[in-house]
This record gives sequence, C-alpha cells and structure tokens, in this order.
Amino acid sequence: MARCRVVFAELDADPPLYPWRQAPPHLLTRSQLKTAGLRPGRRPAGMLAWASRRGGRPRTPEGWRYAWLYDARLARPRRPATPRQLAAIARALAARRRCPACGRDPGYVPSARLGCCNDCAVAA
Ligand SMILES: [Zn+2]
Repeated sequence: MARCRVVFAELDADPPLYPWRQAPPHLLTRSQLKTAGLRPGRRPAGMLAWASRRGGRPRTPEGWRYAWLYDARLARPRRPATPRQLAAIARALAARRRCPACGRDPGYVPSARLGCCNDCAVAA
C-alpha cells in the first residue's frame, strides 16, 4: 500500500488543514493547551496532519496522523480535579491492581495473561 509522505496545507477546508510545524502560532493542540494550563473553549479551529510510519486514522491508507487544533485565544482555564474525582481515580486504580484470585493488592496490576498476581501464579 503506497503511502503519501507529503502533507499539503488545505487552508480553505473546514477546519483548515496544516502540515507539521506550519500551523499559525495561536492554534494549539489539546496537549499544548494543557501545558499552558488551558482547555479548549470552542470546537477545533484547525487540523494538524503529518505523515507517520506508525499508521494513521483507521481506514485511511495514507499513514497520516491527525491532531485537532484549538484557538488559544478562545481557550478557557483548566479546572483542577475535585477531591471526589481524585478519590474516584484512586479507587479505580486500586480495583485494577486487585488480584481476582486472592483478592489482595499486590502493588502492581496483575498480568492479564496470568489472570492473577505473581504470587498466585507461582503457587498454582
Ligand atoms: Zn493473587
């Protein structure tokens, strides 16, 4: 399957498409907004696309990868997680670490292949 290695800008598309490193400076990815302590305020104002060997969006053979770009001028401040949200995350992570065989928390996530913690796998 041939892969197009070159991404051309499509500035008249909706949203406009920018190649790697060619987006205007006020358009940031979600991750860049997060680093700046912001969150998206409006729908994406652009799309970043680049050719990658790691494959792209499903069902596109070009091997492109995409990221939404948000206007930093319309972004809003990030809301810190509430204590209840942090507690819920801690509970979920603890449930993930629990061994289904012995019911203890071994301090790590038990292997899905073993289906139990290492102590139970050795004992069996
Ligand atoms: Zn166990």
